[in-house]
Amino acid sequence: MRLSRYFLPVLKETPSEAQIVSHRYMLRAGMIKQASAGIYSWLPLGYKVLRNIEAIVHEEQQRAGHIPMLMPTLQSADLWRESGRYDAYGPEMLRIRDRQDRDMLYGPTNEELITDIFRSHVSSYKDLPLTLYHIQWKFRDEIRPRFGVMRGREFLMKDGYNFDLTKEDALHAYNRHLVSYLRSYERMGLQAIPMRADSGPIGGDDTHEFLVLAETGESEVFYDSEITDLKFGDRAIDYDDHAQCRAVLEEFTSRYARTDETHDEALFNQVPEERRRTARGIEVGQIFYFGTKYSEPMGATVQGPDGQAVPVHMGSHGIGVSRLLGAIIEASHDDRGIIWPEGVTPFHCGIVNLKSGDEAADAACRSIYDSLTALGLEPLYDDTDDRAGAKFATMDLIGLPWRITVGPRGLKNGVVELTSRRTGTSEELPPEQAVERIA
Ligand code: ATP
Ligand code: MG
Ligand code: MG
Ligand code: MG
Repeated sequence: MRLSRYFLPVLKETPSEAQIVSHRYMLRAGMIKQASAGIYSWLPLGYKVLRNIEAIVHEEQQRAGHIPMLMPTLQSADLWRESGRYDAYGPEMLRIRDRQDRDMLYGPTNEELITDIFRSHVSSYKDLPLTLYHIQWKFRDEIRPRFGVMRGREFLMKDGYNFDLTKEDALHAYNRHLVSYLRSYERMGLQAIPMRADSGPIGGDDTHEFLVLAETGESEVFYDSEITDLKFGDRAIDYDDHAQCRAVLEEFTSRYARTDETHDEALFNQVPEERRRTARGIEVGQIFYFGTKYSEPMGATVQGPDGQAVPVHMGSHGIGVSRLLGAIIEASHDDRGIIWPEGVTPFHCGIVNLKSGDEAADAACRSIYDSLTALGLEPLYDDTDDRAGAKFATMDLIGLPWRITVGPRGLKNGVVELTSRRTGTSEELPPEQAVERIA
């Protein structure tokens, strides 16, 4: 992409309404624009990162054997009356009436809708196990929308639902989700720690939240510092292997790690004192096992091997896709701007032409651009005639992992400058070598 043809409305001033760094940088980098309280338009740069995060979530869910689909944002109140949650959910639910006077709502989550789909089409245990998921906009009328996309009212969530014949199978689905979430967050360059949590309005017995440690996080967390040494990495996993998935769950949840909702001072005090940590965290996902809480009242049963109808065991599993942009920036930035992890970056490399209009500089930039593109990488080429200082400031703000700076002086010596956004170090190299370094 050439910057002169792109839409990147960078702000010079720091917007006064933004209280935390991720919100400030997302506004300044022209990634989002508030449409109304807690509701955002996703401008091209923000949209690109959102799509990258979504792509990782899709890949990892499908790797775990979960099946993508799409449910609507607007739902009928009747289904929620069946589960009893229409009244129980409270003022966070946006209730809408259509012209026929039917009660509708903008879905804050989808347990009822998916259970209705399930009971309409599945009647035998032979069709289980089944896990369906979608990535769709949700609406929750948060009392205090704030921090930009971190606590929006409209936000993008991946929510998945497992249907199983037995509790044991449903707990395997729970463990599978835990594994797939660990992988997903690591691919985004994040450490998200599973912590024992409270089930809230979803209900249920077993639940873990995934928290990214950050000073600006809204949850208070208590953990054993050993947990931050754990990495999932690129170990092979067979998602059908119950024991293997359970071992990962045990490895990642056996040390003390809880949010304020479930914190137990006496248990925490059993952790050696030098390993006890109190910090703040951002909730980027949560998994639940809730048994037959929805299947029973809504009649989602299957015929078991013995011919008897039994309610299915279910769980639901969410990832805060749009919140993740904020969480990643909170975890990865400096005082000049964002530092995108490679896995989610909107462009792989910035190309800065120090003298647009200079024949040699223009030609070198075009050739670097073409080489990167041929390698399947996406460069952002600043071909404008802005001052060099302004170009560097924009590149630093939008946080691409690499920058190649091209000027007539370097070219006379056959070199360009390659700069790493994360380390800040620069090297002079022939253009082909700079390209190789990135690939
Ligand atoms: P929170 O405690 O932050 O209000 P939640 O526990 O109500 O979140 P869940 O029902 O667990 O949220 O939804 C799954 C995920 O959706 C959360 O882990 C979070 O990452 C994301 N999420 C929830 N509410 C919001 C919101 N208002 N804005 C952006 N993302 C959200
Ligand atoms: Mg909430
Ligand atoms: Mg929560
Ligand atoms: Mg939650």
